[in-house]
Amino acid sequence: MAAHRYMHNLAHNLAHITQQIQTAAAQYQKQHNLGKHTIKLIAVSKYQNLDSMRALYLAGQYAFGENRVQDLRDKQRGFCSALSDLAPTAPASAPIEWHFIGTLQRNKINSLLALSPTLIHSIHSLELALSLDEKCRAKDRIQPILLQVNAANEPSKHGFSLESTCDAFAHIRAHCPHLRLQGLMCIGAHTHDTQAIEESFARTKALYDTLQAHFAGVETLSMGMSGDFAYAIKQGANMVRIGSALFV
Ligand SMILES: *Cc1c(COP(=O)(O)O)cnc(C)c1O
Repeated sequence: MAAHRYMHNLAHNLAHITQQIQTAAAQYQKQHNLGKHTIKLIAVSKYQNLDSMRALYLAGQYAFGENRVQDLRDKQRGFCSALSDLAPTAPASAPIEWHFIGTLQRNKINSLLALSPTLIHSIHSLELALSLDEKCRAKDRIQPILLQVNAANEPSKHGFSLESTCDAFAHIRAHCPHLRLQGLMCIGAHTHDTQAIEESFARTKALYDTLQAHFAGVETLSMGMSGDFAYAIKQGANMVRIGSALFV
């Protein structure tokens, strides 16, 4: 009974968040005189069990984000077997996406690649990119990635500094043929000062625009979490990563 109500709430939360995303996107679209501006939602399932993920999946959410390789593996395995039970009701053509959003250690690269993540959001150093490229070459694979930017310059956070990102981007594009570098990810400033949060997103968007002017295939700006996604969308995010607000 309680479990059933929780499942129902998840579908409701998803609808509610989707609505908020669409409203913010419509405002952005209007303000910048754009054509259709779509925003992709990644459901961050790092603290969730398979039942909750399954409920979201049935409600139409097909992209999930995890921040630990081990968790991604467990969720993926569990989900695949759960999906065979769901087959009669699941939309047959809905491909599930697994996004990796956590800090990646070099000794976990092979384990992560074995899981074929849809997108790795969190490439935070040149060394990591070079190692990943090498492993992808050995496996004859092309891996989509984003560079993580430390837009608020917080020592507690991983990521490229705003100043170093352009050069790193160019270097990876030139030297890592097995990485498809398609944009940037950032975590908003860790503060209650909404202006500082918005500024961290705005700086990342400015950098994204610069990259877009210089390189082809720059198309993903992943920023915004439960507490700040409206600000991120206002500043131009086209991918948001939401956990706690979905799974309440
Ligand atoms: C946990 C996490 C999120 C989601 O955070 P919520 O506040 O629960 O929405 C998004 N991005 C990253 C990198 C995370 O680690």
